Amino acid sequence: MEKRAELYAGKAKSVYATDDADKLIIHYRNDTSAFDGEKVEQLERKGMVNNKFNAFIMGKLEAAGVETHQIALLSDDESLVKKLDMIPVECVVRNIAAGSIVRRLGVQEGMDLNPPTFEFFLKNDALHDPMVNDYHIRSFGWASEGEVAQMKALTFKVNEVLKKLFDDAGMLLVDYKLEFGRYQGRVILGDEFSPDGCRLWDKATRNKLDKDRFRQGLGGVVEAYEEVAHRLGVKLD
Ligand code: ADP
Ligand code: UDP
Repeated sequence: MEKRAELYAGKAKSVYATDDADKLIIHYRNDTSAFDGEKVEQLERKGMVNNKFNAFIMGKLEAAGVETHQIALLSDDESLVKKLDMIPVECVVRNIAAGSIVRRLGVQEGMDLNPPTFEFFLKNDALHDPMVNDYHIRSFGWASEGEVAQMKALTFKVNEVLKKLFDDAGMLLVDYKLEFGRYQGRVILGDEFSPDGCRLWDKATRNKLDKDRFRQGLGGVVEAYEEVAHRLGVKLD
């Protein structure tokens, strides 16, 4: 597989064309950002950890019947993926209240959400990723009614699989963000699943093991990601 021009450099990953028009290479960088890119730092080993972590999770999801873009790990910090026509919304499921929902609705952090709740956000840093609903998505043509339904169903299916995976390894899956795209007429899971885009708490202590350590300046960010990987049995070296 030949790596060609850089197509896009995001806040944490860079995307490259390949000699196959249907495939891309994603480079996981060490850049770590929060607050819509206002806080940025380089964290040693993070690109490698997230690349391998994501490949492991995508493998588990594929095994459970959720189609993903992941094709292969190419190196420590690069993966080969199917090129998707990305739908510009973030799909968030929350099992426990934390982060923006606590600020927006004034609810207690740590409250169990039964049933788990679902939110859509528009991917737009300049507008600070505003929350949008199904009607916005359809009216502005970001996705069809069927695609909206598929994104919701797939995001909840991921919850079933991953809540159990993390629970078995002594962790609570508090919330997470997924991105989907179109591929040969199907809606499939793209982007990444790593501690950069979810909240994970230790079951016994409720210690944070995710990007909130970076957002809140708690330190030990990559060490926490490595701890999560270790508990799940992700091979890092
Ligand atoms: P951001 O764009 O939010 O700064 P990243 O740094 O993670 O995020 O950049 C990765 C970009 O690649 C994101 O815009 C994401 O939507 C996009 N992307 C992820 N997977 C695919 C894919 N399979 N095909 C096309 N684009 C993708
Ligand atoms: N999230 C993300 N990218 C974003 C916004 C949120 O990966 O641009 C993830 C975040 O890590 C958390 C979940 O989505 O796991 C819900 O985030 P929230 O709405 O609470 O926003 P935050 O306070 O984290 O910015």
